[in-house]
Amino acid sequence: MPLDVAVFLENPGKSLPIDLHLDPEGTGSLPGDLRFCEGIHVTGEAFAQLGTLYVRVSIRTEVERRCRRCLVPLRSAIDLHESFEVDVPVGAISVDLLPQALAAVVGSLDPRPLCRRECRGLCPTCGEDLNADPVHSCRAPDEAPRRLGDFLRS
Ligand SMILES: [Zn+2]
Ligand SMILES: [Zn+2]
Repeated sequence: MPLDVAVFLENPGKSLPIDLHLDPEGTGSLPGDLRFCEGIHVTGEAFAQLGTLYVRVSIRTEVERRCRRCLVPLRSAIDLHESFEVDVPVGAISVDLLPQALAAVVGSLDPRPLCRRECRGLCPTCGEDLNADPVHSCRAPDEAPRRLGDFLRS
């Protein structure tokens, strides 16, 4: 939902409230593993001055990503306080705040999300979750000599 800027342009320098629900779906420019669990709620205020809209808002939403090691889904609540400027083209009646809101959300995310710091991840050989089975091992080179040893001992 774009922001109607007419009232801001008619009252230059005057701060007016903003309350927007932005739909992040279909933007096509999100990092691959990022999913929005809800829309982006943008509230705050803005004022226009000489073709620029000065925005100061809270940005709230909830996103889901996957643990970089074990791929378990991780949900996080986003609550940011952001200030930014948006150029208002001459004659425009609305501006889209979604690019700025998305950039703020994406920029606030940990580039390497982990379900927990000591996550063991997945077995590189068979893909088993090593958090569920910490003693799991299917490294073939280790297994062969052990089997031979068992054989010789028996
Ligand atoms: Zn994990
Ligand atoms: Zn394995």
